[in-house]
Amino acid sequence: MRVGVLSLQGAFREHLAVLDSLGVATRKVTRPEHLENIDSIILPGGESSAMVRIAATTELFPVLGEKISAGLPVFGTCAGLILLADRLTDASLDGFDRLGGLDVTVARNAYGRQRESFCAPVQVTGLDGAFDATFIRAPQILDLGTGVEVLSKYAAVPVLVRQGNIWGGSFHPELGSDMRIHEEFLHSLGATV
Ligand code: GLN
Repeated sequence: MRVGVLSLQGAFREHLAVLDSLGVATRKVTRPEHLENIDSIILPGGESSAMVRIAATTELFPVLGEKISAGLPVFGTCAGLILLADRLTDASLDGFDRLGGLDVTVARNAYGRQRESFCAPVQVTGLDGAFDATFIRAPQILDLGTGVEVLSKYAAVPVLVRQGNIWGGSFHPELGSDMRIHEEFLHSLGATV
């Protein structure tokens, strides 16, 4: 199995490091041709408005969006969740290609500004013991389509969701040394990590 990591901007190195530690082959994805022969892709946190601007210089997002709708498994974290959301509450990214595919409405920056970043223990379906989730200018998931399963909540609000092979989370699972959420995603794809 080879996992791509969208590497335009943001916390892609941290995701690559987690995947390396788990012994999974990776590829940095910055251009459409990097999507060949990957089995899934992770979209990191960072700044979605920067990612859509950088991505607009190639056909990367239209091609990736088609692959996701054709079944390529994907995990979007934080800014990556914003790229995957079918609906955003504000118009700040209007006019730019995103990806879509995840039947949720997302509010950008709804957990506050950079200085309001926080870490909180959350329970995650399938994991024994809490996961320390880091929220950085995090997007909030406001509503869910019927096909979307909630894997974790913080303060009664969904923060990790799954719609088949499309996973999205408000927080940064790649920060810290706990790799269990990456393992869960990879296990769901049949990987033995
Ligand atoms: N607020 C950022 C955005 O809107 C996301 C923050 C993050 O990825 N940590 O893109």
